[in-house]
Amino acid sequence: MYLIVIGPPGAGKGTQAKILEQEYGLKQLSTGDMLRAEIAGGTELGKKAKAVMDAGNLVSDEIVVDMISSRIEQPDCAKGVIFDGFPRTVDQAEALDVMLADKGKKIDAVIEFVVDEEALVDRLRNRIQQTIDAGQPVRSDDNEETLRNRLKVYRGQTAPILPYYESTGLLKKIDGMLPIDHVTQAIKAILK
Ligand code: AMP
Repeated sequence: MYLIVIGPPGAGKGTQAKILEQEYGLKQLSTGDMLRAEIAGGTELGKKAKAVMDAGNLVSDEIVVDMISSRIEQPDCAKGVIFDGFPRTVDQAEALDVMLADKGKKIDAVIEFVVDEEALVDRLRNRIQQTIDAGQPVRSDDNEETLRNRLKVYRGQTAPILPYYESTGLLKKIDGMLPIDHVTQAIKAILK
């Protein structure tokens, strides 16, 4: 099974992707996590991506498409993948279709997290506080200014993907403002 979770930053996609990963034996692939690993590893790619990510803009389609296309070939992706934070542009969505078609596969469902943007700012404040309380480092793009830009980028570059999936009947909307377990139930009902 190949799923996409899509929605603005902080909508809860990663949380749900991790739950679904356990439940369905899928592999969560977060391009954000993969890029942060490149930064942590001090690679050339990481160095290139850092400033773009810190500003809340998108890294190039080519970089993320290459990362995903080699990653989905790994054995831990054999049962399927939950794409989290990818695709983020129409070009990435088209590249993903081609990649999967080459393997004789296709996207099974696209789950859109519908959320109230102002509530996301509150969620971000909570997330930062929880991270600090847990003694962990706060992500360098986790601040209000960058979040506002990431929301703008989402509206401008990522939301235009939605009609692309709607036209093929793959798009399902869920209310991302519900408590975590309710969101999980809503997704499971869609995947039945
Ligand atoms: P995320 O963890 O998904 O919120 O991603 C954090 C940052 O990584 C984003 O704000 C972008 O700068 C970059 N990023 C992650 N995924 C993508 C993608 N599919 N395309 C372009 N940039 C991405």
